[in-house]
Amino acid sequence: MRKKIVGSSWKMHINSFDEASTLAQGIAERLGSEEEVDLFILPAFPLITMTKAMFYGTNIKFGAQNIAVAEKGAHTGEVPVKLVKELECAYVELNHAERRSMYNETDEMTAIKVGLCEQYGLTPIVCIGETSEDIERDRSRMTLRTQILWALENASPAFREQIILAYEPVWAIGQAESASKEYIAKTHKMIRELVKADFNEDLSNKIRIIYGGSVSPETALQLSDVEDVDGLFVGRFGLQAENFEKIVNNFKGESR
Ligand code: PEP
Repeated sequence: MRKKIVGSSWKMHINSFDEASTLAQGIAERLGSEEEVDLFILPAFPLITMTKAMFYGTNIKFGAQNIAVAEKGAHTGEVPVKLVKELECAYVELNHAERRSMYNETDEMTAIKVGLCEQYGLTPIVCIGETSEDIERDRSRMTLRTQILWALENASPAFREQIILAYEPVWAIGQAESASKEYIAKTHKMIRELVKADFNEDLSNKIRIIYGGSVSPETALQLSDVEDVDGLFVGRFGLQAENFEKIVNNFKGESR
């Protein structure tokens, strides 16, 4: 049985301590005792310590939006995995489309970072997703398969079960609406089948696959009963505590 999970990356939308403390406090008050669904928040690095203090004693976990590709050394401006662990982060987001397109991150780098997460006991949330060009060229399946292989191959069989695959169709990020329920359901099923074919059935049954890309309270309601959707990865529509709470409750099916 896969436990549902809902999380949000604040990206750089939240760029001040004031904003972060108001939002974290609101989320802690509304969702701090949530038990049915795992919850996580990924603030920008300098906000992690404050977010940690705000979530102290709650069931809400926190994490980082990235880590460096190396463990230590001359990597100016990067953040080492060891510090992320020492800050008591639980999760690390990897391979986001913005990291790939704006900062030239590659599949190989993601695989190395997954290995570092295993070494330091952090759960990677690995984003995968096709572009609109992939759809035009009829190569979405191939793109997703390649990304899944890189995400999982460098991990031990036991650790693979902990990795979270975040399916984020690149064309659905930052839009007014998410992809359609039918499209998401079909692609999540395909992702699970790819994991089964390239790894094994047990892993495909255990691995959590979450959807991200313009998730709103409406998306959450629509996806709450889709078998292969184990969670949601929320962006802009989770930047108000009330909205984030609505997304979580809708995904639990509470407003049905
Ligand atoms: C994202 O890019 O991971 C994301 C979920 O963003 P948004 O919801 O703002 O599209």
